[in-house]
Amino acid sequence: MKIAIIGGGPSGSVCATLLTQRGHEVAVFDEGGRPEHIAGESLVPGLIPLFRRMGIEDQVAAIGVRKPGVTFFPAPGKEYAFSFSSLPRQFPPYAYNVPRPAFDRILEARAARAGALMIPQRAELIAHGEKLQLSAETLASAGIWNGCQPDFIIDASGRRRLAARLLNIKADVGPRRDVSHFAHYEGFDPETPSGQVRINRLADGWSWRIPLQSKMSFGIVMDQKAAASLGKTPAERLEAAMRNDPLLSLETRGAKRVSEAETYANYQLVSTQGVGENWASVGDAFGFVDPMLSPGMMLALQSAELLDKNLASHPLGAALEAYSTEMKGILSAWRDLIDYFYDGRIFELHDRGREFQMKLPFLPLGFIETFMSANMSGMASGFTTADPWSRGVLKYAERFVLGTTPFPSRYAIA
Ligand SMILES: Cc1cc2nc3c(=O)[nH]c(=O)nc-3n(C[C@H](O)[C@H](O)[C@H](O)COP(=O)(O)OP(=O)(O)OC[C@H]3O[C@@H](n4cnc5c(N)ncnc54)[C@H](O)[C@@H]3O)c2cc1C
Repeated sequence: MKIAIIGGGPSGSVCATLLTQRGHEVAVFDEGGRPEHIAGESLVPGLIPLFRRMGIEDQVAAIGVRKPGVTFFPAPGKEYAFSFSSLPRQFPPYAYNVPRPAFDRILEARAARAGALMIPQRAELIAHGEKLQLSAETLASAGIWNGCQPDFIIDASGRRRLAARLLNIKADVGPRRDVSHFAHYEGFDPETPSGQVRINRLADGWSWRIPLQSKMSFGIVMDQKAAASLGKTPAERLEAAMRNDPLLSLETRGAKRVSEAETYANYQLVSTQGVGENWASVGDAFGFVDPMLSPGMMLALQSAELLDKNLASHPLGAALEAYSTEMKGILSAWRDLIDYFYDGRIFELHDRGREFQMKLPFLPLGFIETFMSANMSGMASGFTTADPWSRGVLKYAERFVLGTTPFPSRYAIA
């Protein structure tokens, strides 16, 4: 097939690599001009097998920092360290933190090496009934395929959601109305263990610290009004958030901002329809859930892989249906899992799990904790997020440890 991909970010570039390797004629349009600092720096272990298959893990390791896990600070004096070393043995027990532009360039270069045609220009789509086409100007200026339309179009335009907007496809909007600011800093206290991502629950939201080579990415996620009360500019808000939180103020003493502060808002969007007669969307263009647990890049690359796999295994209509169903299931599983962190259930489970184990003296001490940690790591690493068994175990534990009545948790994030 002749395939046009709109967007050469991570999802578009990985689609291009995989589909070109299958023998398709692929052209990737990217308008360029991406900012030097882009969110999406903390990756999950579920991506490592794909990096290995694409032969790029060494390059990712060279620009990144090995990430052994994530530590949450959900209340004063409370610290929960999740380590990927508790993953079942068949999964790699680590991920990477990466500077986005350099990471994106590795993926782009991989697509070009595979033989995809990289076209540095903005593409315009037009609707022809339910079908999508490239505009005549886009085709003409690209000078490809003798001016003929592609057989298939992939929307990898990110949160711009080109196809969905053109076809008036609605998005399921998530429950939160947060804004996020982030910037790079030097001079933070060193994280332990090295490379560990740290998440602090704040009075009105949460913050991330993602160690990069010689820098720290610091970001806040909070309700828009609460963020506005911290200062006028994104940089002021970041610095106020550091000062106001007792633990952060201690650990960020001496921190110096070394980049512009960036802003993201209204990003919880999942398209109600991610495929059409001759098109499919991947990555954020299909859906983005939330920055909590860092699922964005996993979803972006996984969607590219799933689309490629389905296109190779079924006739077009069936392939798109299978792809769409699978992606919707994965997006919804991430949303469910992330809810456990926002409403504090995950930490309540951890606390009360120990008391619960006492009621089961026939089990070896620590058995439930080890088992639940492995289950949670598998889900948060992207390997078993949508796996019915893993989700069932979590639900079952919740029912027996926390009961069925909803309760306000002291760990809930405002
Ligand atoms: C606050 C925040 C924090 C996040 N943190 C993380 C994290 O720690 N870890 C993680 O994994 N994910 C994170 N994410 C998510 C991650 O940034 C995205 O999921 C990821 O960038 C999606 O990749 P993509 O390829 O789908 O889209 P994008 O990266 O947005 O790429 C889209 C590309 O399309 C191009 N484009 C768009 N329209 C056109 C057009 N008409 N013609 C040509 N080119 C076009 C753009 O130039 C761009 O290059 C975060 C997101 C937010 C909002």
